[in-house]
Amino acid sequence: MENNILNLVKTPPSSPAGHIYLVGAGPGDPELITLKAMRLLQQADAIVYDRLANPQLLDHAQENCDLIYVGKKRDQHSLPQEQISELLVALARCGKNVVRLKGGDCFVFGRGGEEVDYLNQQGIKCTVIPGITAATGCAAATQIPLTHRDHAHAVSFITGHRQNGKIDINWDLALCKDSTVVFYMGLCNLQDITTELIKRGCPADKPFAVVAQGTSNQQQVVVGDLSNIAKKVERAALASPALLILGDVVKANGYAQSLANQTALKLATTLPEVV
Ligand code: SAH
Repeated sequence: MENNILNLVKTPPSSPAGHIYLVGAGPGDPELITLKAMRLLQQADAIVYDRLANPQLLDHAQENCDLIYVGKKRDQHSLPQEQISELLVALARCGKNVVRLKGGDCFVFGRGGEEVDYLNQQGIKCTVIPGITAATGCAAATQIPLTHRDHAHAVSFITGHRQNGKIDINWDLALCKDSTVVFYMGLCNLQDITTELIKRGCPADKPFAVVAQGTSNQQQVVVGDLSNIAKKVERAALASPALLILGDVVKANGYAQSLANQTALKLATTLPEVV
């Protein structure tokens, strides 16, 4: 599989090296992409794309564009990061203009920094096109303002995933008063994160929202507080990707709660009746 992908790159011709564009695809809704990104997609010779980039965006590629999937699932890389970087260099050396399409923004938990470093080291020209990151996309879709004069003067983006079996969170940052905390990649560890936050003194009634497949037609929202959100999410059996939002802003208006009520209603009508 890996070899097949690298085989797509033919022997470098004598043409000058191409250019790599690291492009943020935005969150689920494919219309949340910049005009610049769309133009580059339409002109690209190759598009190297991830699991979280909406595949509908590929419909805008030219007919002869190489479409190369290098998506990763949690704990399971279909192509290791080093090989993705090598693939980009090889494509550029073939003279191709390449869009490296990533979900959200390439520089927010997107390993875009590593790819840019490698490309720079190899002397390949690259440009980064920003995308709407999941936090701002989900915030807009649920009308949860990440900052608010009355509730939050700062916002932190924290990864909630495990490294070597351990959740490695900067708890001081997560416990910051008057601030909103957004956890990326935290769905599987929600119970442990909430338990630890309460243990470290975060009020158990702190509002908490979980937004799954945010901005897409399949968006699901669960609203609760630190003490009950894990149970509620378990019951709703949310599909990833999902974002965790902790802070008073969750209750700044009633919109997120109304979306959560709709999600709960859908769940109640789709679950088989217990007899
Ligand atoms: N670069 C991406 C983040 C990649 S890390 C960005 O800027 O958005 C992957 C994590 O992003 C997921 O585990 C999830 O927490 C979050 N995420 C991405 N898309 C999402 C979506 N549509 N809805 C909710 N969370 C999303």
